[in-house]
Amino acid sequence: MTDDLPDRSLRVGEKVLLIDRKKRRYLVTLEEGGEFHTHSGFLPHAEIVGQDEGAALRSTRGATFTAFRPTLSDFVLKMPRGAQVIYPKDLGAILMQADIFPGARVLESGVGSGALSMTLLRAGAHVTGYEIRDDFAARARKNVESFCPPEQVAHYRVEQRDCYEGIDEVALDRIVLDLPEPWQVVPHAQTALRPGGILVAYTPTIIQAVQLRERFVDSEFELAETMEVLHRGWNIDGTSVRPDHRMVAHTGFLTHARLLPA
Ligand code: SAH
Repeated sequence: MTDDLPDRSLRVGEKVLLIDRKKRRYLVTLEEGGEFHTHSGFLPHAEIVGQDEGAALRSTRGATFTAFRPTLSDFVLKMPRGAQVIYPKDLGAILMQADIFPGARVLESGVGSGALSMTLLRAGAHVTGYEIRDDFAARARKNVESFCPPEQVAHYRVEQRDCYEGIDEVALDRIVLDLPEPWQVVPHAQTALRPGGILVAYTPTIIQAVQLRERFVDSEFELAETMEVLHRGWNIDGTSVRPDHRMVAHTGFLTHARLLPA
């Protein structure tokens, strides 16, 4: 029975998150002959390779670390960024609002650092990205390649272009936007999406959300809704059970709508 189970031990080439006793997190790529250096000695990568996740490891001067594969959230918060990324709380909500499914034909614009791209790919979408800046397009591609397995990367294509000027794709299932003026994309989305297709836009300000909603009024989009995701952690420690003192008060608004047949 157990012979059929996949081998999930850590391998060369993979990323690992090393967590120290103070819960500080370090993202490391395992290399042949590599070493992870800290102020309390170093940890040869060879001692991490072959271990199962959660393994406790000791540096040469006795500091202890726990090794895990980074989750998508961990990676998004740690990866190199060009543009500001969409935060995990919003990425999760976008997947549901856009109703992303395996094989969905999705147009994403702008692509920025690729955080949303990875989220869509992981949910099985086939993603075409339009990004106006070449350097961001390259950064996104790099980030996607370093986190997503090749079978997901195979469904990812980024073009350097301005989404306000038009969309060449047709019969798209979904369009997901994170750019300053999403209302400029509405006329193009009407021809690029199939009937019943969904458009989702992430906007940092409510003025942008309102402008998009106003643009929907005389369009073929229906069922528009705008919301925000408030994520409040709780401290649970013995008798101290209360909300965390700090929270991220604002990231952005999510607006979605569905296309009617023309
Ligand atoms: N969602 C991304 C971040 C996108 S940041 C992530 O999670 O990583 C917004 C991006 O939109 C920037 O990279 C910017 O260059 C791009 N952009 C702005 N206007 C655009 C346009 N008209 N067409 C295509 N991309 C655009």
